[in-house]
Amino acid sequence: MQESTLQPTIHWQTQTPVYRAYGLHNFKKLPQIQKLDNQLIRDIEVVAHVLPFKTNSFVVNELIDWSRVPDDPLFILNFPIRDMLLPHHYERIAQALNQNLPKTQIRELANEIRKELNPHPAGQMQYNVPTYKGVRLHGVQHKYFETVLFFPSQGQTCHAYCSFCFRWPQFVGIEELKFAMREVDLLIGYLQEHPEVTDLLFTGGDPLIMRTKILRTYVEPILKAKIPHLRTIRFGTKAPIYWPYRFLTDPDADDLLRLFEEIIRAGYHVAIMAHFNHIREVEHPDIQKAIARIRQTGAEVRTQSPILRHINDSADVWAAMWREQVRQGMIPYYMFVARDTGAHHFFALPLIQAWEIFRNAYKRVSGLGRTVRGPSMSATPGKVEVLGPATLNGQKVLALRMIQGRNPDWVYRVFFAKWDEQATWLDELQPADNDRFFFEEELEKWVRH
Ligand SMILES: *Cc1c(COP(=O)(O)O)cnc(C)c1O
Ligand code: SF4
Repeated sequence: MQESTLQPTIHWQTQTPVYRAYGLHNFKKLPQIQKLDNQLIRDIEVVAHVLPFKTNSFVVNELIDWSRVPDDPLFILNFPIRDMLLPHHYERIAQALNQNLPKTQIRELANEIRKELNPHPAGQMQYNVPTYKGVRLHGVQHKYFETVLFFPSQGQTCHAYCSFCFRWPQFVGIEELKFAMREVDLLIGYLQEHPEVTDLLFTGGDPLIMRTKILRTYVEPILKAKIPHLRTIRFGTKAPIYWPYRFLTDPDADDLLRLFEEIIRAGYHVAIMAHFNHIREVEHPDIQKAIARIRQTGAEVRTQSPILRHINDSADVWAAMWREQVRQGMIPYYMFVARDTGAHHFFALPLIQAWEIFRNAYKRVSGLGRTVRGPSMSATPGKVEVLGPATLNGQKVLALRMIQGRNPDWVYRVFFAKWDEQATWLDELQPADNDRFFFEEELEKWVRH
């Protein structure tokens, strides 16, 4: 019998792939690394003292094209490379290592550098953490009316780490920077008090790194609570890409799919917010099988990614990704602008260029791929979409639109910034027709609280 990607049973593969993680302490054991230039290996070592570094057997053996290293986009997705640190930061760590300074001293130095890398962009820490019965819910963010983000404490890692990730403070062990919480009861209480919330989004790290048994301890009480206004349970994840066997052959893979089915049977929409960065991921046969199995439960898969220099700054890659995602039954959702954190100087591209790539990809897919929105910045006032060049009073300007707002009344309002070919983020733009953007006065009041 021919093997079908839609085969629903667990018997399709006789071998069970074993997950193996690689990081600073063991990456040199990889045969692929031993073939690399010494300076490249040294660079990985230096940079990994500051930025989180973790990859795994699937990424290394199946996704990275080692003949193209160090320029391979999937290599850059996981491996730290020299230019991800600013030269003076790189030198400080390299010297400390050359001098064999004690580990604690190197760690302090690394923490100092990390604090200079804007670890909590867009005021996540200060303004989005809600309170319930006088307790600050550190594992919850509630910024937009409809959607609550929940960070279960055992979901604060991933099967591999993306080198651009703005969640990086979660992984490097500076305790006070972490969002997480164990108490699902507090979350339920909070949701019950907030009838405006329709969506609960499990996020992290990666919530699907949790064993299904643990995930059930969060999900089952939420189902039992029968919160009448809650309609959708979302999971933000890159597990189908970094470890597709989470849905195929891991011992609790079937139980995870059963859990999705149970949530759906309880009357909710299950949305998997899948994080795809490159066409090579969408094309891998095991990733396709994982997606097919998820979709068979009745869950929908929506896709999102930031646009990143060195990884996917090409309209060909985006058009191919959206087309192939639609063919597999997924729904393209967001193209994000890389956030102003971590190795931003390495990955960022000007907003205008991001918009050009978006447009050149968008015009080459059918309407079913045009469910995608972007390029979108998740900034302090809200999600801001770059609409492109426009003319205002005879001047060339940049048109923008708020697609999510801290104040719901800001949503879908178009506004204009002075034309700027270099700007990579909202705070580098100047209002075109006023001293301030329309939301700024109100936002200041918010921020001063
Ligand atoms: C993007 C985002 C959401 C979800 O927004 P949707 O547009 O509904 O997908 C929720 N909370 C925060 C803080 C976000 O950045
Ligand atoms: S999988 Fe998501 S949370 Fe984890 S490192 Fe990548 S972008 Fe960050």
